[in-house]
Amino acid sequence: MIATSLNSSLNSKHSDVLVRVRGTVQGVGFRPYAYRIASEMHLKGWIKNDGQGVVIRLIGLTKTIDLFIKKLVHDAPAIAHIVSVETITTPQDAIPVTPQFEIIASERSQTTADLSIPSDLAPCHHCASEIADKSNHRYGYAFINCTQCGPRYSILEEIPYDRSHTSMRAFRMCSKCQKEYNDPLNRRFHAEPNACPVCGPQLSLYSKLGEKIDTKDEIKSAAELLKSGGILAVKGIGGYHLMADAKNEKTVIELRKRKFRDHKPFAVMFADIATMREHVEISDEESDLLSSQAAPIVLCKRFLNSDLSLAVAPNNPWVGAMLPSSPLHILLLKSFGGPLIATSGNLSEEPLCKDEKEAHHRLASIADQFLDHNRAIVHPVDDSVIRISEHGPVMLRRARGYAPYGTALPAALEASYLCVGAQMKNTVALAYQDRVLTSPHIGDLGNASTQEAFRKTIGIIGGLIATPLSHVVCDLHPDYSSTHYAERLGLPVVRVQHHLAHILSCLFENHHSADRVLGVAFDGTGYGEDGTIWGGEFILLNKGRASRFAKLRTFRLPGAEAAIKDARRTALALAHICGEERFMEVAKQFGYTERNASVFDNILVSGLNSPVTSSAGRFFDGVAALLGLGDINHYEGQLPLAVEAAAMQATQCSNDVKSLIRVNAVDVSEGASYELDWEPLVEYLWNSRIKKDASTLALDVHHALAQGIVDTARIAGVDSVALSGGCFQNVLLLDITTRLLKEAGFRVLIHQEIPPGDGGIALGQALAAVWDLTRVELPT
Ligand SMILES: [Zn+2]
Ligand SMILES: [Zn+2]
Repeated sequence: MIATSLNSSLNSKHSDVLVRVRGTVQGVGFRPYAYRIASEMHLKGWIKNDGQGVVIRLIGLTKTIDLFIKKLVHDAPAIAHIVSVETITTPQDAIPVTPQFEIIASERSQTTADLSIPSDLAPCHHCASEIADKSNHRYGYAFINCTQCGPRYSILEEIPYDRSHTSMRAFRMCSKCQKEYNDPLNRRFHAEPNACPVCGPQLSLYSKLGEKIDTKDEIKSAAELLKSGGILAVKGIGGYHLMADAKNEKTVIELRKRKFRDHKPFAVMFADIATMREHVEISDEESDLLSSQAAPIVLCKRFLNSDLSLAVAPNNPWVGAMLPSSPLHILLLKSFGGPLIATSGNLSEEPLCKDEKEAHHRLASIADQFLDHNRAIVHPVDDSVIRISEHGPVMLRRARGYAPYGTALPAALEASYLCVGAQMKNTVALAYQDRVLTSPHIGDLGNASTQEAFRKTIGIIGGLIATPLSHVVCDLHPDYSSTHYAERLGLPVVRVQHHLAHILSCLFENHHSADRVLGVAFDGTGYGEDGTIWGGEFILLNKGRASRFAKLRTFRLPGAEAAIKDARRTALALAHICGEERFMEVAKQFGYTERNASVFDNILVSGLNSPVTSSAGRFFDGVAALLGLGDINHYEGQLPLAVEAAAMQATQCSNDVKSLIRVNAVDVSEGASYELDWEPLVEYLWNSRIKKDASTLALDVHHALAQGIVDTARIAGVDSVALSGGCFQNVLLLDITTRLLKEAGFRVLIHQEIPPGDGGIALGQALAAVWDLTRVELPT
């Protein structure tokens, strides 16, 4: 949305104005672009970056200035994002104006902040064609970039974004590069990481023992290793990837063994869309996303006849496909000549390695060789991951290419708020005045290295404002690492209930107020207002207040963490609610002895180490085990994904799934006004397991839950329903629920840009601060 406010005095013949442009306008080639049009139009004045974006002084014919502004907005560089353009007449500015239009040095404003940091972008088409052009002096150069592409956030040490504030300050530009950098008409004008083979970063290849390999062509030697079935660690834009031949079953299995990762899918990098189409199904929308300069991983359906190793994504119909995200990857893929595994360079569940020393140490037992370079990565950034639903993209991980990202808040804040997010899939956000900046995906705060990345991220985004932080916002969970961090800052702490934060992030994205809307937050686990584990929540938002309207019927997690891994425990807990007989049958089916079953029975009755939960994610786990779709979650969300994958195989759902989830009014002691009782659904699944195949039953589960959501929304009497939480990464659930709600006449608010999972929590916390809406009231 672009707001242009032109003063009426512009109609006089000559004007002298200041134009303020806000949005993502730094590090995207905006100043040279503005310089070019101003010079073409013979306007006098200057342009500079400042803390809020860019400011342009223009002196000339009023109608020319008018035309300039129109053109500025209309033809802006594709990677720029203009939020607003304001014009101020008769400026009071001490900067002298020369006869020529000029680009002048940037300054930092002390009072206001724009809250924007450019993100890393894959090569633009100009640069991509230059590295393939033998006559170009950057032919085959792995660090080519320009104002429209290249590393940004990952090399940024402090703001504003200038070369001297990035890890490129270690390289002195040669005269040729410097000339490009200084020439306002060159597309490398002020391209901060500008470099060439003479003056810029260089590749080097190391053995697993850390010995430098003597070669004239590092890319060619590395490709030879890959061809021979070796595993290569590659230092990319935001960290190391482990790469290997995606068609070589033996190598892929070896990589799984060395990485201690048996099940979780690996992403695959293809040289181009045409090659990708030989292996996976790609819609036009997916193709556009894959080819964009954010170059994300997109989950695409694998063709049955693809010769990619089955070990790429075991028992999984999707492949995480991506195109090269840096010039180095373009060169490597070309030299290798086939698809490559591109999985994060880490041991299972650890964060990405970002420097050579760390990588050589941590990846020594995995990689056979290291393809390194000497441009330092300041901030590790993961690849972004997206799925496409019937209703548009679903952001699973917002990172490289999409983050950090600045957005406008619906109202201005008086103070500054640091929002520290959740525990898993952590992101952080800074809210100040009417802007909020959200960091890329940082990861799970369970280990020391991720916590270091977390603190470093807070360091740089905190530096965007000139004044000290005034408040910190965290989750209600007392034991999240982010909560502990918030408590140690010595600032006033604002605590936001987890599922409310999910819903607020969805309202934020849809520009919806906290009125007449039912928020449905389905996720794994989150800390509830009553101290129990929530996760199947219906939060009613009315006149700016939030209350727990309904919940999924609660059940126990026998053995707590153990049940999150072993879904048979959860299935037993569900069966236990259906009665003794059902419980014994299910226990028998799982091969439990009578003695073991009676131990579980005791645990479930007494509640020993078996917390009560309303979690929809855990409910999906139990369903997976009941339907024989898997017993163990080897990685987060594996079993819920298996239920979705099975359901996608079904041609149609059974006739009468409407009554399988009942919405009942419950006593206030239940902590909600209504409860979605799934007992008939579980009974139905058990009784139909011989007659119907698991895929039909899995689809029935989706329809029954979606219908339960519609029924609850009807009772709540709202206009809109917001769907959030990690369970809505399940696009089948999202699509069916959205469809049924729309058919029932509701406006449906869903996520497209902000992750429905915990990656969206920090942004939800920011909106909680703006609206002073942090807690969910329980019925009394
Ligand atoms: Zn470029
Ligand atoms: Zn150079």
